[in-house]
Amino acid sequence: MQNAFAEIDLEALSHNLGVVKKKTGNKKIIAVVKANAYGHGAVEISRRLIKNGVSFLGVAFTGEAVQLREAGIEVPILVFFNRDTVEECLHYNLTPVIFDYGSAKKFSTAARRLDRRQAIHIKVDTGMGRIGFSPDKARTEIPRIAALKNIYIEGLMSHFSDAGLQSKDFAGRQLHDFLLLRKELRKKKIIFKYAHIANSAAVLNMPGAHLNMVRPGLMLYGYGDEKLRPALSLKSRILMIKKVPAGTPVSYGRTFITNRKSIIATIPVGYADGYSRKLSNQGEALINGRRAPVLGRVCMDTIMVDITDIPGVKEDSEVALIGSQGKEKITAADIAEKTGTIPYEVLTSIGQRVRRVYK
Ligand SMILES: *Cc1c(COP(=O)(O)O)cnc(C)c1O
Repeated sequence: MQNAFAEIDLEALSHNLGVVKKKTGNKKIIAVVKANAYGHGAVEISRRLIKNGVSFLGVAFTGEAVQLREAGIEVPILVFFNRDTVEECLHYNLTPVIFDYGSAKKFSTAARRLDRRQAIHIKVDTGMGRIGFSPDKARTEIPRIAALKNIYIEGLMSHFSDAGLQSKDFAGRQLHDFLLLRKELRKKKIIFKYAHIANSAAVLNMPGAHLNMVRPGLMLYGYGDEKLRPALSLKSRILMIKKVPAGTPVSYGRTFITNRKSIIATIPVGYADGYSRKLSNQGEALINGRRAPVLGRVCMDTIMVDITDIPGVKEDSEVALIGSQGKEKITAADIAEKTGTIPYEVLTSIGQRVRRVYK
């Protein structure tokens, strides 16, 4: 096949999980595999993580959890953003994150009908301004939920609003409010098996937030610390090489015009594959261990790069858009910096037609 593919290094994933274990001293881990495991392929990534001892998975939406169940994955799955997906959660044995009493009540009623006990985690908003009970509301609502029949509150959770934890002050306040709430509820004999607030940045840099469970996502895929190994390479092969004279316009809008005799390679990867159009006249591809600049605009399905100064390139030579060749390396973080975004978006934008291959 000709088009771009993503090569996923499962050894790198295992290594990164090892860093989580080492950092947290073997706390329970909810491996976050939402958004197709940040573009890496949720089923394969989950299987590998489970094999390496992960006991919980976390996804954003119920449909993502269902996909994992249908692939035969049996570990508990926490669904962060759902509301009243009662039937699916019971049928597929999923663990919903609850943030209002009405929803908890629906789960209670349905679980009772089936003579089952539904595990839930409760979300508290300590400063993200997203879903969750405010700590004040939590003080009154959690006891009400705890009194519902056939409901088991397995976990209490919150989320940091500084994903990168550049400043730990605000995160420290969030953690403080979270722990205070847990303590007050404990006095009312409401005890949670798990309490969790740590995302990747907190796993890496805020040991006090590890509690007895952590929720890393990005770091599993190799971003956020030098010790981590990026698991994904975005690769392709050259489609055509052509020699052109000086003064030749390249790509839509003719925003680039050669100023010398040039050799141009067309590569089948474009913005439909997640290779941002913002990389027009900015991106680089690795070919034969050298950097080849993107010429002109990124098209939907192709880019053109300058290989005039790279000897020995053949049609069918391998190209890395993300990854390393020889001494050269391009990471999703490098691309994010050039395109004004974050590695999360670069990784999750990799398109559906990009095959994922595992090694
Ligand atoms: C995405 C997400 C995480 C993982 O965050 P990272 O920064 O990728 O580690 C953890 N918890 C929740 C609720 C999330 O939505």
